Amino acid sequence: MSGFLQIKNVSNLRLQAQQNVLTQAEGSIKFGSRSYINGVEDACQMIENLIHEECGIFGIYGAKKAAELTYLGLYALQHRGQEGAGIVSSNGERIHQHKGSKEVNEVFFHKDILNKLKGNLAIGHNRYSTTGASSSVNVQPLLIKYKKGDLAVAHNGNLTNSYSLRIAMEKEGSIFQTTSDSEIILHLVARSKKDNVEEMIQDALLKVKGAFSLVFCTMDSLVAARDPHGFRPLALGRLKDAWVVASETCAFDIIGAKYERDIQPGEIAVINRNGIKSYFPFKSVRHAFCIFEFIYFARPDSIIFGDNVDKIRRRLGRQLAKEKPVNADIVISVPDSSNTATLGYCEESGIKYEVGLIRNHYIGRTFIEPEQKIRDLDARIKFNPVRGVLKDKKVVIVDDSIVRGTTSKKLIKMLRAAGATEVHFRVSSPPIISPCFYGIDMPTKEELVASSKSVDQIRKYLDVNTLGYLSLPGMLSMHSLDGRDFCVACFSGKYPTKIEANSGKYILENRC
Ligand code: AMP
Repeated sequence: MSGFLQIKNVSNLRLQAQQNVLTQAEGSIKFGSRSYINGVEDACQMIENLIHEECGIFGIYGAKKAAELTYLGLYALQHRGQEGAGIVSSNGERIHQHKGSKEVNEVFFHKDILNKLKGNLAIGHNRYSTTGASSSVNVQPLLIKYKKGDLAVAHNGNLTNSYSLRIAMEKEGSIFQTTSDSEIILHLVARSKKDNVEEMIQDALLKVKGAFSLVFCTMDSLVAARDPHGFRPLALGRLKDAWVVASETCAFDIIGAKYERDIQPGEIAVINRNGIKSYFPFKSVRHAFCIFEFIYFARPDSIIFGDNVDKIRRRLGRQLAKEKPVNADIVISVPDSSNTATLGYCEESGIKYEVGLIRNHYIGRTFIEPEQKIRDLDARIKFNPVRGVLKDKKVVIVDDSIVRGTTSKKLIKMLRAAGATEVHFRVSSPPIISPCFYGIDMPTKEELVASSKSVDQIRKYLDVNTLGYLSLPGMLSMHSLDGRDFCVACFSGKYPTKIEANSGKYILENRC
């Protein structure tokens, strides 16, 4: 691979790019095991599109070969994180672990690996890494040895006071192995003066702020915890006598487990040979369930926050058709996250559903010769228009959200080039104006197209005939829960918790 610049640290790259160090550079870039593309700016953009801070977690207690079931659970949760996966298991005498910076089936590529993860207790984690070389240390579960023995944790969500906690601990001499906020939780547990691990975990979690859905593995217990706002989902299920917890219920379906209920906001559930025992140590606060899980992130076949994702997405699409009707020949979706909302739009509008864009699910193995410079390559790698469907048609394209607007702009260009006579863009959520600090990956405020442009300015930028977003009240009225129980900060700019000045997903990395 001579002549290729290997990017080892995405956050550093981002910083450098921001400082215009790299913008003059030419050449090709390899990132992770993913792809090779030409031109530093294209590569930066593509990496930006791939950077996520979103995770899936799974835990099981009381099942033979718990690690195998965890592997399957992680498989079902792969959409929540694809850059790293790991499992920690316990057989009551020893803790075992295996993890790596790849997708689940690549990390656990051989049955022997799972066979070595012995025990009837296991936790697992999928994550999108934010860094290249250093990402392997950040892959979870994180496992430590401390005064009470071994303790592992898998975390979904972002803490909002991680910077100040870490600075304070480092001043006192603490040493950190990772740039992940989850390690802070382990330090806090290890520092606790309480007597047993259940109390130590409670003690630690009372000190952190922000979003956390967590599973811990001790030698003999599975502990599941959710922050008092309940930002990220965490479901509890049963598989015969075993207890299972997972970010989404699609992980229960794959192993035949039955969904029982959600781990409640503010609940710390300790599961061991004595059954399940719950603690509620937090002051009660207003719920702030992440609405973006319903819009984009969760799988449509999951139940989260007590509602079926598919049902909600269809309703969003129907409501969008009511609020923003248009005369057109066909409706197409931006696959896959918009498929269900698009069906809802079609049902309500009566306009025919067509498959006008094909998504390539296998983009991990693309190789492009360095000399070839192809315009809009990142979008073309992912999507291809179906000309026979689009030619001479007035097209409604439904997407779940507009973030930077860059992919959308390229897609629209493709639709026009494929012969669409009119393009009407419909979005099944309101304009995103503020970043998320609770675990959904979003760029900075400046990079969010709707933070500085009006709907009409975005319409012109995207080059569409009409642009229509779903309204905030319209979106909130589609749920069985009270709209005030959701976090809508990305649409309103109003955050349900205080955000530390030094917040953001790269804050612990940028200082290294
Ligand atoms: P853009 O055209 O750059 O605004 O990207 C919009 C696309 O990004 C939509 O198709 C969304 O489904 C998708 N999207 C929304 N949120 C995220 C996210 N957090 N991470 C990755 N993609 C997202």
